[in-house]
Amino acid sequence: MTTLLEVKDLSVSFDVFGGEVQAIRNVNLDVKKGEAVAIVGESGSGKSVTAQTVMRLIAMPPGRIKNGQILFEGQDLLKLSEKDMQKIRGNKIGMIFQDPMTSLNPTMTVGKQISEGLIKHQGLSKSEAKERAIEMLKLVGIPTPEARYKQYPHEFSGGMRQRVMIAIALACNPALLIADEPTTALDVTIQAQILRLMKKLQEQLDTSIILITHDLGIVADVCDRVMVMYAGQIVESGTKEEIFANPSHPYTKGLLNSLPKLSQRKDEPLIPIHGTPPDLIAPPPGCGFCDRCPYAMNICATTPPEVTDLGGSHKVRCWLQDPRAQSDKKTEVGV
Ligand code: SF4
Ligand code: MG
Repeated sequence: MTTLLEVKDLSVSFDVFGGEVQAIRNVNLDVKKGEAVAIVGESGSGKSVTAQTVMRLIAMPPGRIKNGQILFEGQDLLKLSEKDMQKIRGNKIGMIFQDPMTSLNPTMTVGKQISEGLIKHQGLSKSEAKERAIEMLKLVGIPTPEARYKQYPHEFSGGMRQRVMIAIALACNPALLIADEPTTALDVTIQAQILRLMKKLQEQLDTSIILITHDLGIVADVCDRVMVMYAGQIVESGTKEEIFANPSHPYTKGLLNSLPKLSQRKDEPLIPIHGTPPDLIAPPPGCGFCDRCPYAMNICATTPPEVTDLGGSHKVRCWLQDPRAQSDKKTEVGV
């Protein structure tokens, strides 16, 4: 499979009154053509910052790209002018956000909002764009698309609005779709419908997807690969099978343990991850998860763990898996 997007060693900080917030640090990720990749983590872990940096939507200042490259179809997006970036945004890379009400224009019919991009990016005439917009509304499962074309966002339910967002994002047939918590604001049944729709369209149109979510539970249905982010770093990555069968970072284990299981008995409690993420103005010198980790060893507090290759595409950033910490492990956790 050819690589569509390659993020290399990306670090982004925000300069705020209290200092420098190191929002993401040395993030590496790649997305192949037609592949669906999930970025999972709690809020503040850097997942949205990563996506917004790819789209070049970070306000600078206060944002600052410290180092890294974002290669999309071989071209470094960080080197493009804003004008060239506008040709990529909404055209080659589509986006869906959590709250469709704030991303849709309330004063414009949904039809017009879908047509706009087609006229601007693809050079379609008004009538061609209208035809394609109606086709898109149909594709995302909106009944009576001809009538719906003329309606305004407030005339749609939450789930239907998110379908409209998907129609807008996919209208120009982008190579990559970035969906940031696309179903978080929706109830569970609608959430499942929207995810199924995204998966179906991804297969049908061969679009690559980056799905950003705090919910590891929704990843299994939609994604091929998973990146787990914590405190601005990717702490574990691998195929969905590798991650679910053999979660190797204590934080990933915690995320999995806090999910309801099919076999869960009613009296069996879910296990939350205790504590809060570290302050990214002054990140801890060692592992960012140290304060919350039930397996923490001496070395974890002082030295940041590096990435250990676990075979296949499975990688983890944790001293437990690093052969160099074996002696430490024996003394601290008795294994
Ligand atoms: Fe826990 Fe240490 Fe691994 Fe960090 S490096 S997750 S503190 S065991
Ligand atoms: Mg976010």
